[in-house]
Amino acid sequence: MPYPRVLVITSCTGEKRFKPEQQLTIEDFKDEARLIDREVELGDYACPAGKMYTGMQHLRLMEGVQKLRDAIGHEALDVRILSAGYGVISERQVIVPYEVTFNGMKSHEVDAWAIHLGVHDAIASLIPAYDLIFFLLGDHYLRAATLPLASRADQTFVFLASRGQADGIQGMAAKTYVMPLSNPEAKRYRYGMVGLKGFLFKQFAEIVASQPTLLKEVYETPQTFQALIDQQVAKNQTIQLAMAEVFQQVPSTPRKRKSTSKKTAVQNDNLLKVPDVPPAPNQHLGTQYFIPEWDDRVYPKYNFLTEKVPEDRDPYRDDVYAHEIYPQPNYNGILISKIVIDSSQTKRERFEKVGVHDFVRFSGDIMGDCGAFGYVKEDEPPYKTDEILDYYERLGFNYGVSIDHLIFGPFAVSGVREKRYNLTLKNAEDFLVRHKAQRYNFKPIGVAQGWNPETYADSVKALIQMGYDFIAIGGLARAQNREIIPVLKAIHPHVEPHVRIHLFGVARVEAVPIFQHLGVTSFDSAGPLRQAWLSSDKNYHTLSGRHYMAIRVPPVTGNRAKKVLNVGHYDFETLEGLEQDALTALREYDAGRLGIEAALDAAATYNEALDLSEDEDKPEKLEKLRAKRRQKYFEMLEDKPWKACDCKICQQVGIEVAIFRNNNRNRRRGFHNTYIFYKRLADLL
Ligand SMILES: [Zn+2]
Repeated sequence: MPYPRVLVITSCTGEKRFKPEQQLTIEDFKDEARLIDREVELGDYACPAGKMYTGMQHLRLMEGVQKLRDAIGHEALDVRILSAGYGVISERQVIVPYEVTFNGMKSHEVDAWAIHLGVHDAIASLIPAYDLIFFLLGDHYLRAATLPLASRADQTFVFLASRGQADGIQGMAAKTYVMPLSNPEAKRYRYGMVGLKGFLFKQFAEIVASQPTLLKEVYETPQTFQALIDQQVAKNQTIQLAMAEVFQQVPSTPRKRKSTSKKTAVQNDNLLKVPDVPPAPNQHLGTQYFIPEWDDRVYPKYNFLTEKVPEDRDPYRDDVYAHEIYPQPNYNGILISKIVIDSSQTKRERFEKVGVHDFVRFSGDIMGDCGAFGYVKEDEPPYKTDEILDYYERLGFNYGVSIDHLIFGPFAVSGVREKRYNLTLKNAEDFLVRHKAQRYNFKPIGVAQGWNPETYADSVKALIQMGYDFIAIGGLARAQNREIIPVLKAIHPHVEPHVRIHLFGVARVEAVPIFQHLGVTSFDSAGPLRQAWLSSDKNYHTLSGRHYMAIRVPPVTGNRAKKVLNVGHYDFETLEGLEQDALTALREYDAGRLGIEAALDAAATYNEALDLSEDEDKPEKLEKLRAKRRQKYFEMLEDKPWKACDCKICQQVGIEVAIFRNNNRNRRRGFHNTYIFYKRLADLL
């Protein structure tokens, strides 16, 4: 054998190249005829499986696969993907996007679905043709494979598996080596848990590509697998450190972008790749998450049955913030914008009286800014530097941001943008000079604005020259990752080890490791919180990354119900009866005293009564909407994700957190989402 015949079996990932609205669901996969119809519908999004998945594990793995193939030929190894929708498939099989993963399933559901897909048998039938087989499977996927697998003594299995699963991998004829992976390994290899298996395989592939005989060595003595990886990781880290030093010494010249490269960038938007530059030299500063303050409070003793609150309740004094509910805050700090404080006179007076920490009852870091979105249309910001410096100091902020002016949309036209750019830099300069002269205690942050990567980079460079060691990047809150990453890449060469970079208003958890790699040390976003009520169907988030639609039971005293009553289809008592039936049915279901169909019916009946107000002239559209809603509700009720969540809110209020109805439920769900977000972030970093 010149080289052992190699097979890699890997999990499908939730992140996919295309994200159309109506992806395939598990229901589609259950019915072959329906599946064919649905695949035709989604035909525009079809592509080979090897190219469909864009999760970190898959991307890193395929980079490694490519390296091996480049070195020893395309036939060097085969890849099979364990798809929770399609079963075990080849990388060449053409598929369409789907939303099915083993990760959210309970054990018995994994088992049943794996049998339906024939996972074990499919893997078992592949094995005889290979000598060396790698398994890159997460817990639920490994369970779906159902070990042990029949094998021969002249075969070798290498598993990359979690510590929890490692002990269970045994008793097979093949030589078996398990590399157990958990957070300590992620730290040691400086790579997040998400994608770690792919990353490690890539390291292995790199070293084997340079010395192909090593493949045989691993086949004969699989324990060398880990040693080879360690060797390669150490080598790469040394190179990266050396390059980081070089990068700091070489002054960068702005590069002109060719217009032809633009199209490719757009097409690749969904491919979140860690850019091919060394990790920024400020990585040791870590990554912090700030949440913007916007009166996000709930009444702690809220009675979900009567929905009554005391008449003398003062929402500021008696309601609580998320950090007053959870044992630990789900953020490293809070961002408070002056424009938000100034929105109400009572609020401003209270702030002035007690200072920021006492106002939000939070002892951690508080960052202040002016809230540039609030005055984007003005020619100039409505604040003066002296006034703002004094305000930050007086109210006790830990960090204060210089006065900036946004450049985007109509304000990014030539003539306007230069004015705003210069104004932002000039303000930053004044801010720092006066901050020093007055010996203020808070830490000053200079803002960089720009309209393309080069102007952002110049701005950051200028701020560092002024003496800033904390810089915030503004104007990207509504930008896509494909627009943000080039900006960060342009800034990257200027980042110094002591310089912190804050990214305003951006929080897609999957992108955070990339932002960190490029030098971002903190960011803020209220996205996860506000999706609880602003998203049409992603209201309740979970650790697996799966989102659920909250079950709408709007109050019968609300605007929607009023419209229906005005039309005269229902009288108040009847409609109120439907509302109460829905609430009662959901609670009874949660308590295990009512079946899922009955609970769904009750919720749907009330929803459908309210639908009449707007959509009755479009029956087809309405029917579609109702079917979708019922499906989404079914998923929420079937999975009962609040039971699996260990956060204090889910534990305390049960199904109420899943109901879309007034502030005390919706904001609590938002707090839960923030809890999930922060936990996912911790796992990634
Ligand atoms: Zn929860």
